[in-house]
Amino acid sequence: MIIVLKADTPPDSEEVQRLIALAESYPEVRTQVHQIRGATRTLTEIYLLGSTGVIPTEPFSEFACVERVVRITEKYRAIGRHEGELDDLGFDYNGVHITQAGFQVFPGLCAVDTRENVERMFAALAERGIETTRAGAYKPRTSPYDFQGHGAECLPWLFELAGEHGMKLISMEITHESHLEEIQKALSQSGNATGVMLQIGTRNAQNFELLKAVGQQTELPVLFKRGMGITLEESLNACEYVASGGNRRIVFCLRGMKTNLGDPHRNFVDFGHGPVVKRLTRLPVCIDPSHSVGKRSVAPDGLLDVFHVTAQGVIAGANLVLVDFHPHPEEALCDGPQALLLSELQPFLDDIQIVRDAYEERLRRVASSLGAS
Ligand code: PEP
Ligand code: MN
Repeated sequence: MIIVLKADTPPDSEEVQRLIALAESYPEVRTQVHQIRGATRTLTEIYLLGSTGVIPTEPFSEFACVERVVRITEKYRAIGRHEGELDDLGFDYNGVHITQAGFQVFPGLCAVDTRENVERMFAALAERGIETTRAGAYKPRTSPYDFQGHGAECLPWLFELAGEHGMKLISMEITHESHLEEIQKALSQSGNATGVMLQIGTRNAQNFELLKAVGQQTELPVLFKRGMGITLEESLNACEYVASGGNRRIVFCLRGMKTNLGDPHRNFVDFGHGPVVKRLTRLPVCIDPSHSVGKRSVAPDGLLDVFHVTAQGVIAGANLVLVDFHPHPEEALCDGPQALLLSELQPFLDDIQIVRDAYEERLRRVASSLGAS
C-alpha cells in the first residue's frame, strides 16, 4: 500500500507521525518514507511493506494530510504505476531535474582516457550549455586484455575538470560495490565539484548484490541499462532491487538487445519499448544509441545510423540520451569506432531538437483531441 501525502506536507509533522504509528500498529507492517523533491514542491509517499493485504484503506484516507491511498498490485511494487494510480517518479539531483516529461542529453566519453581529451569534451559541452555527460572510469570489457578503465586513480582530476566546466552530472558505470565508495570518497574530496549517476551496465543487469548496494544508498541516482539477453520484465525486476532497497532515483536505459537479428548493428534497437517502460513504471527512460548501433555507418540519406535511431527514441518520448563522443576516436581506448566527433556535436543536438519539438507537438495534438472528445 502506498499513501501519497498532499504536496509539501512535512514528513516529521505530528499528523504524519500518527499516521506512521497507525500503519506500524498492524502486525508485521513496516513503513518507508520517500520524498520526491521537485523544482517547486516536495511530494512525500509512505510505503507500507509486509502483510498489508488485510489492512483497510479508510483509516488512512481520513487523515487531512493524505491525498490518496493506493493499493499496489503485485508487479513492480516500488517502481510500478499500479494501473495508472501513481504519477511519474522524477527526481532532482545536484540541480538536474529528471522526470518522465523532461529531456536531457548526456554526450561524453565512453571511457576516460587522457586529461586533454576529457577537457576537450567538457569544453565542447560547456560551450553549448550542456551540464550532463558520460565518462566511464570502470570499464567492463569482453577481453581481460583490453583496457579496463583508469578506475579510482582518474576520479580526482575528472571531478575537478567537471567542476571547472560546470558539469553537474556524470553518468559513470560501476562494476563492483567497492567502486561506489571510491566515487563517494572522491566526490567529497572534490568538494562535490560535480555529481555522479551510477550506471549499472547491461552485463550486470542481474548482479543482484550490486543492485542491492546501489539501492541501499540514496545519495547517488542510478542509471540502469536493460539486460541485453533477458526479458523486459526481468530488467524491470532488477530495478525493483534498487528501488526496494530505498533508492527511487532510477533511470531505465534502453541500449539494444543482443541478437543476430539486429545485424549489422551491434545490438537490435529496442527504443520502441520506451513508452512501454513509461506505462509500466514511474521511471524516466534513457536511450543509448551508441551501444545499440556500435558503428558509424551512414544511411544513403546522409544521416548516420546513430542519428536515425536517436530520432526513433526521442520521437517516442525518451527523456535522456546517453551518447558516445570523442575528440579523437582513433585514440579512444574503448569503443572508438562508434563515437561521434566533436564536429558532429552541434548537428546532433540540432537534429535531436527537431525531433523533440515534433514529439512535443504530437503531445499537444493528442491532448487537444482528447479534450475535444
Ligand atoms: C557503456 O555505456 O559504457 C556500456 C558499457 O554500456 P552497456 O552496459 O549498455 O554495454
Ligand atoms: Mn562503450
